[in-house]
Amino acid sequence: MRIAATRIVVSMGIALAVLAAPGCGRWGGWQPTGGGEVLPAPELVSVVHVAGRLGMQMDTSSASNATFGDGTNSVTVFADPGGQAYVNGRPVGQPGGIRSVGGALYVPQTLEAEIRRHLRRPAPVYTPPPPVRPSRVSGIVVIDPGHGGKDPGAIARSGLHEKVVNLSVARSVASLLRQRGVQVKMTREDDRFIELNDRADIANRLGADLYVSIHADSASNRAACGFTIYVARSASGNSLKLAKAVEHRMGKCGALARTTRRADYRVLVRTACPAVLVELGFLSNQGESAKLADPRYRQRLASAVADGIVDYLKAR
Ligand code: ZN
Repeated sequence: MRIAATRIVVSMGIALAVLAAPGCGRWGGWQPTGGGEVLPAPELVSVVHVAGRLGMQMDTSSASNATFGDGTNSVTVFADPGGQAYVNGRPVGQPGGIRSVGGALYVPQTLEAEIRRHLRRPAPVYTPPPPVRPSRVSGIVVIDPGHGGKDPGAIARSGLHEKVVNLSVARSVASLLRQRGVQVKMTREDDRFIELNDRADIANRLGADLYVSIHADSASNRAACGFTIYVARSASGNSLKLAKAVEHRMGKCGALARTTRRADYRVLVRTACPAVLVELGFLSNQGESAKLADPRYRQRLASAVADGIVDYLKAR
């Protein structure tokens, strides 16, 4: 294909050059100006030299024409008579002035700049963008995995215990928050029983910025499903903001949002800082308990809770 195209360029080039510049049989590229004054011939350089300066490889070279290129661009140069240079099939520079000397081609020195002006930019080399480092967020957060030890919490028909789901999600939330620079304290790191008052007191002693208790729901109506965020009845505006931030993020997990509700759970009433209790979904619902048993779904929920917490901390 390339040879055929070059041939067409050759014949077109000669025809155009002859029509456009009848005087181009003279080498040297100088042409009469309006007053008939004769300009000096520009200096000639070898085509091999020009190719080298353009960072190109010689493909063919003879007394009548030469081709060189760089993979993206192809340059063809024809000697006089009808001399012309082509970049990617398009004529560049003045016709004529290309001379064959001793079997090698010489072109006006000015042709290099003309060729350079018409080169296609090489395809950009793909460089992957630098990894986006999530911005650091400061704050002290208490994450409370509900139940534990002798208290399993809700139990799914499959036998899945709420305390297991809670701890799994809470651990992921804690880990994600620590990656963002947040200081995290968990009320329990393993399967142990902790009194409700003690859970709230951990947050109060630390002077935490916020408290998030993680639970999973159960209802006698097995059709009930979705996640719920609870705040205390007397919840502060900040508790509500935190609830909205978490609810917004969790809403993108594919779970039904049951909106923010008010309930005086002990851990919500007793904590001095903004506090929410997240019910991840219903273990009493067959479909949702199957999802909650899936580590990938739990990770999604954890990411959403962590993102909601970060959103709240950043907006403070
Ligand atoms: Zn619970």
